[in-house]
Amino acid sequence: MTELVSIQGVHKIFDDLHVLKGVDVSVKRGEVCVLLGPSGSGKSTLLRCVNGLETISAGRIYFDGQLLGMQEKTKHGKPVLYELSNKDLSAQRARIGMVFQRFNLFPHMTALENVMEAPIQVKGLSKQTAKERALDLLARVGLSDRADHFPSQLSGGQQQRVAIARALAMEPELMLFDEPTSALDPELVGEVLSVMQDLAESGMTMIVVTHEIAFAREVANHVVFMDEGVIVEAGTAAEVIDNPQHPRAQEFFGKVM
Ligand code: ADP
Ligand code: MG
Repeated sequence: MTELVSIQGVHKIFDDLHVLKGVDVSVKRGEVCVLLGPSGSGKSTLLRCVNGLETISAGRIYFDGQLLGMQEKTKHGKPVLYELSNKDLSAQRARIGMVFQRFNLFPHMTALENVMEAPIQVKGLSKQTAKERALDLLARVGLSDRADHFPSQLSGGQQQRVAIARALAMEPELMLFDEPTSALDPELVGEVLSVMQDLAESGMTMIVVTHEIAFAREVANHVVFMDEGVIVEAGTAAEVIDNPQHPRAQEFFGKVM
C-alpha cells in the first residue's frame, strides 16, 4: 500500500503559541488513523493543516505524493517552493473531505439540497446527476426518508449523517473527522459511528479525532496519541490504548498503576 498522507516534521505556531512541535504521521490508502489526546493538544490544528484550512509553519505534508498547498519548481537549478494557485489548491482540497463536531449544514436547504450543492457548484455536475448521487449517498447513511427535511427537522445524529453524505458527494480520497460525535446526545453517537465504520470498511482512508475508545479499538489500523503538540505514542490500538509506555498516555487511558 502506498502512503496517501505523509505528515513530516510539521510545526504550527500561532503568534507566540507553539501548537504543533514536529509531528510525523503517515496514513496509507485504505487505512484508518485515530488521533487521541487531551483537549488543547493540537488535534484539530493538525487536521486543519491537512486540509489546508491552516498553513504550516515548518515541515511538509504530502498528499498522494504531492506537497500540500505547494509546488516545487526549479529556479536557477535549485528547488524552490511556490504556493499553489487558487485553482490548483481548490482541486487538491476537493480530494479531502472534512466533517466537524458541529454539523454546519446550510439551514435553508433540505438534506438533499445540502448534499447536491457542492457537486453542482464545484464539480459542475448537472442537477439531475447531482440529485441521483445525493439520493444514493443519503441511502448509504440511512436517510432516504429524510431527503426533503430541513436541518432543523433532523436530530443531531441525522444532521451529522447528512454532513458525512455531503462530504462524500465530492468523492474525496481522504476523509477527516474532527470529534464528529462530541456534540451529540449519547443515544445518537452510535448511528454516526456506525456510518463511519461502514465507510472505513468500504476502503475509505480516514483520519479521525475522537474520544470514542471502542471505535478506535474496532476500526483503527493505527492509533496516535498526542499531547502538547507532540506525538507521544503511535501504534496499534492494543499497543497505544491497552499498553501505553509513556506516563502521559498511561494517565490519559487510565492505566496508571
Ligand atoms: P485540540 O483539538 O487537541 O483540542 P487545538 O488544535 O484545537 O487542540 O488547539 C491547540 C492549541 O492551539 C490550543 O491552545 C488552542 O487555543 C490553540 N489554537 C488553535 N487555533 C488557534 C488559532 N487560530 N489562533 C491561536 N491559537 C489557536
Ligand atoms: Mg479539537
